[in-house]
Amino acid sequence: MLIISRMPQLIEAVNTMIEYHAEAVTALDQAIGDGDHVINLQRGLQALMTQRDELVVLDWSVALQKIGMTLMSTVGGASGSLFGTLFVTMSKAAKDKPLDLVNFTNAFAQGVDAVKLRGKADVGEKTMLDVLVPVAVVLHEAMVNAEPMPKLFERVNCAAVTGVEATRDMLATKGRASFLAERSLGHIDAGAKTSQLMIAAVIDVLSATPA
Ligand code: ADP
Ligand code: MG
Repeated sequence: MLIISRMPQLIEAVNTMIEYHAEAVTALDQAIGDGDHVINLQRGLQALMTQRDELVVLDWSVALQKIGMTLMSTVGGASGSLFGTLFVTMSKAAKDKPLDLVNFTNAFAQGVDAVKLRGKADVGEKTMLDVLVPVAVVLHEAMVNAEPMPKLFERVNCAAVTGVEATRDMLATKGRASFLAERSLGHIDAGAKTSQLMIAAVIDVLSATPA
């Protein structure tokens, strides 16, 4: 499958994207968190970098499972179990199904629902869900409307960026930022930002002309 065959490039692109923005996102997390989000995430991405050639030969459900388990065991922090839950749940939804837009969209939606349950959070609470939920919605709409891929990619990127920006004016009610109450206002959430950056990196690879 197209996505699986590009797994090494996807992991490299995500890793490079986070590396490039590491300082800026760490500053966001220092403002309203404990400043470790990027370091946590980079630990997971480094582990995935070492696994990228093994992942490419796996069925997408098995690859998602492995990615989720790696993230859970290496990232740590709140985001480790949440990103891990996203992938492990997607893996379960993907089991014995071909990788196509319908199955990917359904798997992603189930993954995002599991993140909500795990974090006892929803959209509007200044977390990664403010990016993940709108992206799941846009994917679903694009699938229903059979939108062409370039349009879908553009809409997903747009929804993710809008989601990140929206966190600035939200009051944090979950995670460490919630300890600051009103003082969390005016700052973008770091986990929303890394989610958007990772999605943008994936789209960069998928929209590039196949080699
Ligand atoms: P920690 O807060 O434990 O130090 P990280 O710094 O790795 O963990 O991750 C913080 C990010 O995790 C936040 O920016 C936010 O996006 C996300 N997050 C925290 N708590 C929740 C939650 N309950 N639901 C969804 N996302 C959350
Ligand atoms: Mg932190």
